[in-house]
Amino acid sequence: MTESSVMPAAFLGHGTPMNALDDNRYTRAWAGWGNAVARPRAILAVSAHWYINATAVTAMAEPKTIHDFYGFPDRLFAVDYPAPGDPDLAAEIKDLVEPTWVGQDHDSWGIDHGSWSVLVHAFPAADVPVVQLSINAAKPFDYHVELGRRLAPLRERGVLIVASGNVVHNLRRIVWDRPDGGYDWATSFDARVVEVMQSDPAALISVVDEAEYRLAVPTPDHFIPLLYLAGLAGAAGETADVLVQGCSLGSLSMTCFTLGCPPVATAGQPAPAASAAPDLLPDETNM
Ligand code: ZN
Repeated sequence: MTESSVMPAAFLGHGTPMNALDDNRYTRAWAGWGNAVARPRAILAVSAHWYINATAVTAMAEPKTIHDFYGFPDRLFAVDYPAPGDPDLAAEIKDLVEPTWVGQDHDSWGIDHGSWSVLVHAFPAADVPVVQLSINAAKPFDYHVELGRRLAPLRERGVLIVASGNVVHNLRRIVWDRPDGGYDWATSFDARVVEVMQSDPAALISVVDEAEYRLAVPTPDHFIPLLYLAGLAGAAGETADVLVQGCSLGSLSMTCFTLGCPPVATAGQPAPAASAAPDLLPDETNM
């Protein structure tokens, strides 16, 4: 198989679910990335928001759009992402990563906002089948890097792997009137992660020793999706590229990485503007 037939992969920082409706340099980067890649056979989405005590994939033919957040405007609850599922790919993944057990979910989950808030920009037609992979909350970080590594053959089978989370995600420190920019500790940790992803992504776990780690990653759910891209990069012997970099709302990093992707033009695009804030405390929103 030629190198050009290997699908790229990405980690996209999704931030607040309002990014599904907003227009800013991050959402335009997602759109530009979707445009730049060859049409995939299917998308495997690793979302921070399917954080359960098992490793599972969605295996239904028609996954539902899940609005798994609280306190945001009705128009966000009206978003539908009607991409089909791909039960054959779900079964293929189960076989590929054996002896690791991968549950086949036929009726509990679907496409959650970690996935659809970016896919509505990257693949707005919603005509590419989507399978979601859960994040097994019971497993240590090296399990996720290794599972990412073992999913690498999918890239040669036409599957686009998209992990969605945030490098920095501290909801208790969110500042709603600061849509562009981050605290020093947030930009510093983000910069360190960029450095590792651009030089030795297989060593990503080492960033847990950074002084800012506990503030940047108070819970691991949004960071873990990046471990999948680190595993994929390790398997390919490649480093990651920065698609777009920055912090938003003080304590969220919106930085996105790609692997094996043609260049995407992202310069000179609008900074995030203030958008609807939820009518709940940030850590009650599940964003
Ligand atoms: Zn989120």
